[in-house]
Amino acid sequence: MTTNIPNYQQIVVAVDFSESSKIVAARALDIAQKNGAEITLLHAVEYLSPLAFGDELVPSPDWLLVEEDLIKQGEKSLQTFATEMGLGDAALLVPSGSPSHEITTVATEKSADLIVVGTHGRRGLQRLLGSTANSVINHAACDVLTVRLPH
Ligand code: AMP
Repeated sequence: MTTNIPNYQQIVVAVDFSESSKIVAARALDIAQKNGAEITLLHAVEYLSPLAFGDELVPSPDWLLVEEDLIKQGEKSLQTFATEMGLGDAALLVPSGSPSHEITTVATEKSADLIVVGTHGRRGLQRLLGSTANSVINHAACDVLTVRLPH
C-alpha cells in the first residue's frame, strides 16, 4: 500500500498556552521540517467587554485598553513560546476574538493547507474533542490535524 501524505506548505498552529501547547507545536514543527513548510503560531485573545453581556452603555476607552494590554501580553508570551520551541522563524499572530473563528479565518487568509490544534485545551478537558477543535474541523477550508493530548 502506498501512503500519500500531502506536502503541506503553510501550517497554522493554534496555541492556548496550556502545557499541551508544546506537544501541538512540536508536532507541527516535525511536519514543517519534513516538508519545508512555513508555520504561523496563533493565539486568540478572548476578551469579552461588559457590552458583550448586553449592556447598553457606551464602550469605555478603559475596556479597549484592557483588550490592547491582553493582546500585548499575548504577543510577548507567543514570542517566548516560539523561541523556547525553536520556532523563531514562525510568523506570530494574536488576534482578538473567538479562537475557532480566528483560527479558520487566518488559515483562509494565509491560504494555509494545514491547521494543527490540540484535541482539548483549557475548555475541553472532560471531553473527547474540545469545543475549539470541533468548531475548527467544522469550519476549516483545509485539512485539520487534531493532536491527541493526555488528559
Ligand atoms: P479547547 O477548546 O479549550 O478544548 O482547546 C482545544 C485546542 O484549541 C487547544 O489545544 C488549542 O490548540 C486550541 N485553542 C484553544 N483556545 C485557543 C486560543 N485562545 N488561541 C489559540 N488556540 C486555542
